[in-house]
Amino acid sequence: MKRNLKKLDELIALLGSIEYKRDVPAKNYTSFRIGGCVSLLAEPKNENELNILIEAAKAMDYPYFVFGNGSNLLVQDEPIDAIFIRLGENYSEYSLNGKALYADAGALLCTVARASVNAGFKGLEWAAGIPGSIGGGIAMNAGAYGGELKDVLKTVRLFKSGEIFEHELDPDEMGYRYSAFSFPNAVILGGSFELLPDDGSASILMEEYSRRRRSKQPIDLPSAGSTFKRPEGHFAAKLIEDAGLKGFRIGNAMISEKHAGFVVNMGGASFADVAMLMDEVQERVFAVFGVQLEPEVKLVTEQSLKSLR
Ligand SMILES: Cc1cc2nc3c(=O)[nH]c(=O)nc-3n(C[C@H](O)[C@H](O)[C@H](O)COP(=O)(O)OP(=O)(O)OC[C@H]3O[C@@H](n4cnc5c(N)ncnc54)[C@H](O)[C@@H]3O)c2cc1C
Repeated sequence: MKRNLKKLDELIALLGSIEYKRDVPAKNYTSFRIGGCVSLLAEPKNENELNILIEAAKAMDYPYFVFGNGSNLLVQDEPIDAIFIRLGENYSEYSLNGKALYADAGALLCTVARASVNAGFKGLEWAAGIPGSIGGGIAMNAGAYGGELKDVLKTVRLFKSGEIFEHELDPDEMGYRYSAFSFPNAVILGGSFELLPDDGSASILMEEYSRRRRSKQPIDLPSAGSTFKRPEGHFAAKLIEDAGLKGFRIGNAMISEKHAGFVVNMGGASFADVAMLMDEVQERVFAVFGVQLEPEVKLVTEQSLKSLR
């Protein structure tokens, strides 16, 4: 693929003093450890930098993608002509004021959850083992063990069409692994949460959930967590296991032997390995059970980013 370097140089000229990296392997920013070079990656430190980055991309008609900790992404192997904008450590403050919690999009969900439990609050104890950011968590309505962010989220700080505003959550705007605020609909800058005083169970539950994750999930291998959403009335992992697919492998991508809901990277897996494996699993599960599995993992390709513009 021919890369448009002239356009990129013109775009960079619009960035002023904003720090960026060129030709960055996306795999260094995803929990799957998969993904080719993106032409430019920037981690804005504030809303002004975010605005400049997005305005520059729009002015140059250059694809861009906003993400967090990369723990729910499968990125193409070929180089991508796009700006990847990461809300991460540079944008990760949080504060607890009694039961009111505010966290910037780049704060890690697990860090914030642990801090809230340690401070004597309940409501995020289920989230301690989820490796995403607050922004990615809100975008995906992350959840586990009967809890989900929607239950405790009160307002979302959003960046949309060049404006920043505080948005009061309407429960219909979030559902199972879905929110109306996920990029490209908006950029989530942070969220305000209302927690409950701990009745003594929060830290016990948090440790119990962490123990369960360690014993049941292949957390020693790169993955993007559950590959497919839970189909109504079923569990994706059980369908995949019952279709005889545990340990099924294409290239270096494999259905985990430990938990059939996870596709794991056995070392050097490519986008194509995982995508083909996912297709095959969908086909076989449909053939055996008549259930259509829907990916939970977000596939990021140059084509998918172009179609967002
Ligand atoms: C080992 C493992 C265990 C996991 N367990 C769970 C689990 O129990 N429950 C669960 O729900 N998930 C789980 N996940 C999946 C993942 O951690 C969650 O989906 C998480 O919320 C993703 O956050 P992220 O910051 O990594 O998002 P990314 O992967 O960076 O992005 C995911 C999506 O959110 C969008 N997005 C990210 N940040 C923003 C933002 N600031 N504004 C707008 N859109 C944004 C991106 O564009 C993308 O579409 C697991 C993953 C792994 C690897």
